[in-house]
Formats: sequence, structure tokens, C-alpha cells
Amino acid sequence: MKSIKDIFVIGKGPSSSHTMGPKKAATAFLKDHPEAAAFRVTLYGSLAATGKGHLTNVAIEEVLSPSGPVEIVWRPQEFLPFHPNAMKFEALGAEGEPTDSATYYSIGGGTIVREGEAQSDSDHIYPLTTMSEIMEWCGKTGRSYWEYVFEHEEKDIKEYLMNVWGNMRGAVENGLTNEGVLPGALNLRRKAASYFVRSRGYKDSLRTQGLLFAYALAVSEENAAGGTIVTAPTCGSCGVVPAVLYQLQQEYEFSDIQIVRALATAGLVGAIVKANASVSGAEVGCQGEVGVACAMAAAAASQLMGGSPAQIEYAAEMALEHHLGMTCDPMCGLVQIPCIERNAMAAARALDAQIYAFYTDGKHRVSFDSVVKVMKKTGHDLPSLYKETSEGGLATL
Ligand code: SF4
Repeated sequence: MKSIKDIFVIGKGPSSSHTMGPKKAATAFLKDHPEAAAFRVTLYGSLAATGKGHLTNVAIEEVLSPSGPVEIVWRPQEFLPFHPNAMKFEALGAEGEPTDSATYYSIGGGTIVREGEAQSDSDHIYPLTTMSEIMEWCGKTGRSYWEYVFEHEEKDIKEYLMNVWGNMRGAVENGLTNEGVLPGALNLRRKAASYFVRSRGYKDSLRTQGLLFAYALAVSEENAAGGTIVTAPTCGSCGVVPAVLYQLQQEYEFSDIQIVRALATAGLVGAIVKANASVSGAEVGCQGEVGVACAMAAAAASQLMGGSPAQIEYAAEMALEHHLGMTCDPMCGLVQIPCIERNAMAAARALDAQIYAFYTDGKHRVSFDSVVKVMKKTGHDLPSLYKETSEGGLATL
């Protein structure tokens, strides 16, 4: 299981798999082929189906076009076997003849894999890779999940997470200030600022709920506008964790270091899912993006509110379980409808899961690890029209 730095990546929206990943692949290919006169990039499967709305071509051209002309070939009906987000880069000579090529896969959360390149074992820094094993470790050592993270990550993890938190907070605050219409054919107006203002007119739980929605909308709208956000675990689902943590910090005055510890736990939940299933909407649908973000936020909230390791596991389990089967069918291929509202709903659900688990001793029937396995199987059973191809469901309205 890899570092939680792989879960929290600071960058620009709107899509980790369709924007950040392809940009990374283009950068790697250009580094290997600085001599190329021109480039041809073939996008396959989901990358081709929703690439225009997700600005995949723009991300690639931004990197390659200063070195030479770029031709983008779209093959939405063709899926390569390893992953639905595939892209082939070709370096072309002066006469337009291919001189070399490489295939990359964008496997979710901005992570890329090059075909034929073995994954290095040294990247895998955690000896335990399931929640039940780590919960057992917590029981034996009397410590919590965040301490397991701090024990295995590099020494700079606190600073890294502090920077993550600074960027998450920045995304909330920028999103509350920015107004207007989001880019793309939907002409969707930003809503965060008005939710924020209206929520202040209410009292108690209505106010708290309105503020939570405003924070989640703020970050997801920043993402949709191509602003700076942090994947958690992806761009499309980047509003859930910051909204919950921002809300709890405002309400209970948690210190930044307490938030950093909560982020460590949230990151661990995301890393467990990434290692045992997937956080890619193109691979398993939105249950792997917003569903996992909800589980991460529920675990973080549970820790902040004093939950035991068993209650934290229960909160995460419940949050993911009740997103099982959730499809990915973004309208016009944009990370806007249903994505933005869905982040607000998941933030509320994460706090519900935390409260629900808090009323118990943490004992429950279905484990988080079992739900992760079911999520993977459910995702693979879903037809591809519900996995970031914009060919089915809401995308057809
Ligand atoms: S529906 Fe979910 S998985 Fe699909 S693009 Fe939107 S946030 Fe990502």
C-alpha cells in the first residue's frame, strides 16, 4: 500500500484521472522525447468519451505543444484491457513518421502507470493493507490510525498534511468568494456564496447544515472552474473531506494539528481502498470517488469527535456501504452535474455516519474491508455506460 501522499495531491481541477493524470503522462513522455518534431496522442475508452468536458486534450496540449504540433485522436469505443483510462503517446519525426511510442493508464486520483513498467515495491510503505489488520494493530498497541500512518510515512508527513490542509482551506475560502457561471455548455451558476449567506440567516442545525453544503459546493465549484484543489481521493470528489473538516474546525475550534491527524486517518482509508479496489470513476463508478470520499470524511470526523478505532471503522464502513452501486454519469462530460451537489450530500452523510457510529460501541456485522471488496465487484459488474463515459443515466437527460 502506497503513501497517503498519493491520495492527497494538490493541483488544478477539474479531473484527477482525466486532467492531472494525462498531464503527468505527457510530461513524462516529453522528458523521454525532447527531440520529437510532433506528437500524436490517442485517447481510449473513458478518457476519450469524457475527455473534452474534462479538458484532457487541453492538459496534454499545454505540455506538448510548446515542443511541437499535437494531434489528438479520440477512440471512445475502444477499451484497452488494463484500465478504461488509456492513452498512447507517439513521437513523430520531421516527415510525420512515428519514431517511438508509449502507453499510459490514468488509474485514478492522478496516478499513472506506464505499460510494461513494473510497479516498484519500494513505493509500498505500509506492511498492513486492510482496515481489520490495522484495527487489530490499534488494539494491541493502544494507538490510533493516525499513529499508524505517522509511523510508516516519511518524516515530512506532518508538514505535507499541513500544506494539504492549507490548500483545502484555501479552496473553501476561494470558492465562497468566487461567483458567476462555471465553464462549459451547462451554464451552471456557482451556488456556494449564496448558500453561505443564506445559511447565516438560520439558527442551529439548519445553519450548520447550510454552512456544510456551502463549504462542499465551494471546493467542488473551484474544481469545476479549474481552480487549485486537493484530491481526496480524486478531483471530482474533492469537496467532501475539506467541507467536513472545515465545518468541524469552525464549530469546535479544533487545532490545525488535530485536523492534520484527522487527515492522516482519512488518507489511510483512501489508501486502503486504492490498494484493494479502486478510486477511479471510470473503473468502478462514483462509489469509488464520492463514496470513498464520504468514508474518508466519516472516519476523520469520528476521530475528531473522540471515536474509538472500532467506531471510526464503523463510520467509514457505513459511509461507503450506502454509496454502493453509485454510477458515474456526468452530464456533457463535465465534472458538474451530478458531481458538485453530490459532494454536498456526501459531506452531510459523512457526519450522519459519524453520529450513527458514535451511538454504538463500534461492533457491527459487515466490515469496511468486506464493503471495499463488494464495491470492487459491483464496479466491475456495472456496464461501461455508467462509468465515466457519459453514455447512460443522467448524462442522457
Ligand atoms: S459522477 Fe462522480 S465519479 Fe463521475 S465525474 Fe462526477 S464525481 Fe467523478
